[in-house]
Amino acid sequence: MKKTFSPTKRLLVKGIIATCLLSFTRVGFAATKAQIVAVRVWPSSTYTRITLESNIKLNYKSASLFNPNRIVIDIDNLNLNPTLKTISSKVLSHDPYIKSIQVLQIDSKIVRIMIELKQNVNPNTFTLSPIAEFKHRLVMDLYPYRTTSTSDDDPLLVLLEEYKTGDLSKKQAEIKTQTNKKKNAPIIVVLDPGHGGEDPGAIGYNRTREKDIVLQIARRTYNLLKKEANIKVYMTRNEDVFIPLKVRVAKARSLRADLFISIHADAFTNRSVGGSSVFALSTRGASSSAASYLAQTQNEADQIGGVSRSGDKYLDNTILDLVQKTTLNNGVLLGNAILNRMKKINKLHKQSLEKAGFAVLKAPDIPSVLVETAFISNITEEKKLKTASFQNQVSKSIIDGIKDYLKRRKN
Ligand SMILES: [Zn+2]
Repeated sequence: MKKTFSPTKRLLVKGIIATCLLSFTRVGFAATKAQIVAVRVWPSSTYTRITLESNIKLNYKSASLFNPNRIVIDIDNLNLNPTLKTISSKVLSHDPYIKSIQVLQIDSKIVRIMIELKQNVNPNTFTLSPIAEFKHRLVMDLYPYRTTSTSDDDPLLVLLEEYKTGDLSKKQAEIKTQTNKKKNAPIIVVLDPGHGGEDPGAIGYNRTREKDIVLQIARRTYNLLKKEANIKVYMTRNEDVFIPLKVRVAKARSLRADLFISIHADAFTNRSVGGSSVFALSTRGASSSAASYLAQTQNEADQIGGVSRSGDKYLDNTILDLVQKTTLNNGVLLGNAILNRMKKINKLHKQSLEKAGFAVLKAPDIPSVLVETAFISNITEEKKLKTASFQNQVSKSIIDGIKDYLKRRKN
């Protein structure tokens, strides 16, 4: 049975280009009514995300309206509850895309969300199945409406767009592996603070979030590396935004990076476990069951952070087949160099470099490592991770490790 309804009068203002006739297709009778259990708004300069978390999958329709620019989402089988009402107060004044959000119950079953925009946007709406502590989610990402010319040299937005449309793997395959770089060309380092936005990463006993700590450490490292002659440094994210793993790798490749360093903080159910560790990519299984477990949980970041699976046709194996021996060997060399520096500032969780199949380390032509700075689940280390002095020590260790590596690497 199909039910169609018309928009309320207030939406039918002069100048509407798009018509708003949202309709739902019902399959039988819904046994349970949907309930919103959490709402989140993640503003960033890259894109703003709205997340509605619910007990069951939400049935929705959305439409864009112009003049003024806004988006209307109608959700079926839903009552407007106090949790959903808080959405209006979650919009921050500095949000680059959203001016305001209003919610209203338009009939006994349908809730309408009206998003008033500050600028024309390119919305991407999708649902996510439950994972980790998250229930069902309805996600709306608002990307800037891109004109043909891009002014800055950050390829992130283009890559996110390619990821969305499923063109990322094809475009990435077209990037030629670098050979014979000019002798005095600057070394390009890409720092990758793990997690971000909807994906908090690990959370400490005192609610410290991994995504915040690793961003702080990456920024400190960035500021120090920027001062080094002959090094150019970039970050995969420099704000609280969720970036899919493959887009992080793609950004490093588009920037023609020489080194990729992913920064994390570890967690374990047993709070007494602590120490730093460094990981390199393994194409042949993990070096220990703990390493394998960690890689598996880290590779779930995309499901936690939430990416629409519609267009991503990226095949891990194609890229893995291309992995060059030199890249892997140099990754090991870089990992060991950083590990040797890390052991001077913190006890090591594992004495030697660990290896596992982390998705974020899979650039075929960039030596890549993942640094687990310390255990955020360990109360003492959580405290330490928050201090400027430890964060600076970690940054210094990474930089000294890079320098040691550059002296020793084979081309
Ligand atoms: Zn992490």
